[in-house]
Amino acid sequence: MSIKYKIFIPVLLMVVSIISLVGYFNIQNTKKNIIKLSMEQLHSLGYITKERINQFLKQTEEQVTSFNSRVLLKKTLEDHINEPTKEISSILNAIVRSTYTNNGTIKDIIILDTNAKIVASISDNTIGNGFSSEMFDKSKNGVYAHLSSMDNSKNPILCIGAPMFNDNIFVGVSIFKMKLDYLNGILLQRTGLGETGESLMGAKDKNNNVVLFSPLRYSESPLVLSTSQSKQAIPMRLALENKVDKIENGLDYRNIPVISSMHYYEPLKIGIVVKKDIQEIMEPINKLIGELIIISILGFIASIIISFIITRYITVIINRIVDIASNISEGNIHKRIEVFTNDELGVLSHSINKMADSLVTINLTLENKVHEQTIKLENANTTLENIFNITPNITLLTDSKTLLKANSEFYNFTGYATLEDFLLDYNCICDLFVGLDGYLKPIVDDMSWVKYVVLNKGRIHKAVIEKDGEEYLFLVNATEYYENDKVYFIAVFENITELQKVAYTNHLTKLMNRVKIDEMLERCTNNYKRYKNIYSIILLDIDHFKLVNDTYGHLVGDDILKYIAIILRENTRNVDLVGRWGGEEFLIISRETDINGAFVLAEKIRKNVASYEFEIAKNQTISLGVAQIKENEKIDELLKRADDALYEAKERGRNRVVVSN
Ligand code: GH3
Ligand code: MG
Ligand code: MG
Repeated sequence: MSIKYKIFIPVLLMVVSIISLVGYFNIQNTKKNIIKLSMEQLHSLGYITKERINQFLKQTEEQVTSFNSRVLLKKTLEDHINEPTKEISSILNAIVRSTYTNNGTIKDIIILDTNAKIVASISDNTIGNGFSSEMFDKSKNGVYAHLSSMDNSKNPILCIGAPMFNDNIFVGVSIFKMKLDYLNGILLQRTGLGETGESLMGAKDKNNNVVLFSPLRYSESPLVLSTSQSKQAIPMRLALENKVDKIENGLDYRNIPVISSMHYYEPLKIGIVVKKDIQEIMEPINKLIGELIIISILGFIASIIISFIITRYITVIINRIVDIASNISEGNIHKRIEVFTNDELGVLSHSINKMADSLVTINLTLENKVHEQTIKLENANTTLENIFNITPNITLLTDSKTLLKANSEFYNFTGYATLEDFLLDYNCICDLFVGLDGYLKPIVDDMSWVKYVVLNKGRIHKAVIEKDGEEYLFLVNATEYYENDKVYFIAVFENITELQKVAYTNHLTKLMNRVKIDEMLERCTNNYKRYKNIYSIILLDIDHFKLVNDTYGHLVGDDILKYIAIILRENTRNVDLVGRWGGEEFLIISRETDINGAFVLAEKIRKNVASYEFEIAKNQTISLGVAQIKENEKIDELLKRADDALYEAKERGRNRVVVSN
């Protein structure tokens, strides 16, 4: 069943119970209306009853009047006044008997003469009943009706008396005594009065007791209620006092609460009460109220129970869905909701399960992709790591302040086993830089060396690093990259020490070549300018070398060049720099040496060459020009002076040293 209906049913039940409850409260109002209506009905009935009684009285009066108008009767009574005889008396009795019908309502007819003496009647037994001198006196003057037997607990008799005149002469009074059977019929008309409804009449006796002659009680004697029983038959007491015409709640002669309507019938001085038990009127309403309360309570209980069951059912399923859904959201995507219902929650559960299925599929695909990518990445990392480590260049990762990672070549070169060990002694590879002019220093142009390299990518950057007293030359390249908003640098140090050596070395003699010597001249000159470190140069040239070549061939000439180079190296200090200047010319830079020292050295070299016996060419000589750097002198000028001195040595016969001043 759809949740819509599951929720609708208890709501409906609740609504029904609320409506019933509202009905219950409304019915209190209805109660009043019903009572009001019932009282109106009773009042109408009472009025009709009163009218019927009145009609009955009028008919009876007419009957008496028509009886009195009989000519024979009037004539006989007049005769009786003049001379009462037995014959007259028997005539009168015969008239009375002819009128009396045994099955009628007339119980007795009494004829009285002008002296209130009975002259005819049906039964003597009834004479005293309903007849009195008061009755005679009142009837003399016109039709007079009253109820008799009010004092002796017998059922009342209606007595109607009327005067008789014969030619305007008062001849007597006739009194009709009637049973109230006809009235009983009227009173017993109980249209719409139900089980407990009743019309009754009552009158007061001489002692002011209330005498009730309800038709229901006619078979017995009337009920006489004394003044001390004033709380009984309240409606009748009120009717007899000609007071309130209807009351909602009063105890009747049975001491039972009734609603009633009261009328007072003046001619007979009787009260007419139409009453009905409140209990009976209220019975269907009370039954309805009871039913409404039961419906309300049952509806309420049912709605609570159904709501509870449905809420529990919904809550249990929702909790299960929430539990599994949060499990799935936490990553347990293999969890599934067990579905028992076909309602919306069932559909929701199915959808969540399907979603989870999709998640599993997606996850599997993703896992595969991630796995593939991870393998690719691992491979790439391994490749990178391999490249990082197998590259012959020192490769470093730094944030420009601290060294973060280094490759194996770094450890090979520095001799440190781990980065931690290195960082105990240094912060940066730049701490190893030899701060030569033209080479990288830890700070260049107010920035770290690595930033400087990155910012000046177009240029060639070189660094000289000292290790174990030896200098190594590196070409430095760097690039930057960003990771998590931080800048990192990868710096590559290409060791070109050996390359440079080859570039700066003359292949034949293994001495410095012209390029290197030029560079060294420049360095020494700078040092001289800055620190006044003097130096001297010796320019030397083999004498008549052309002849050697011409005589013994070039190979022999080459050998001589090689051997002279050895002699030069053997006769100079480590700090002295020896290079092949060109063809068969050599240049020696003798550092920290003045002209005198240089001359001594030159002389020593000259002698050693001259005394050396070459394998084929035997003895050879050299000429030397010596010059000491002067203040503010340019290299070219110094070289010119040395060359001039050499030239002079040649001029002066060769195999000699000439010093330039
Ligand atoms: P001088 O005493 O005036 O210097 O006479 P010289 O013969 O040495 O004169 P010059 O400077 O004119 O000749 C130099 C010769 O050196 C010319 C060239 O053949 C020779 N030479 C230059 N370089 C080499 C080399 O690498 N090997 C050989 N075998 N000979 C060379
Ligand atoms: Mg030469
Ligand atoms: Mg020469």
